[in-house]
Amino acid sequence: MSQNRQPVPDIIKTIDSEEVLGMETVKKRVRKKAYVGQNACVACGCCVKVCPIGAIRIEKGVWAQVDMEKCVGCGRCAAECPASVITIREAAV
Ligand code: SF4
Ligand code: SF4
Repeated sequence: MSQNRQPVPDIIKTIDSEEVLGMETVKKRVRKKAYVGQNACVACGCCVKVCPIGAIRIEKGVWAQVDMEKCVGCGRCAAECPASVITIREAAV
């Protein structure tokens, strides 16, 4: 094995998918995030209690709001939501 092998840069390790746009192949980072169907949210707060990193809160006492910067897409909130209004989807970041 070569002794001159370079470490893989972190940016390469985090690329999860690629898509072809015209003649170019664009590599993009994709992460899972929680999305709340706010019209159907009953503001019960169950999702808030189970989020391990405090990435979801009740906004104005009316609906749940996800902080996309914090959310790691673990799905705990979606599993607990009694109204089934949270979906975990991939999002380009
Ligand atoms: S998917 Fe996980 S990290 Fe994101 S809001 Fe739900 S419980 Fe929190
Ligand atoms: S658990 Fe579901 S219904 Fe309850 S606040 Fe969260 S998103 Fe809304």
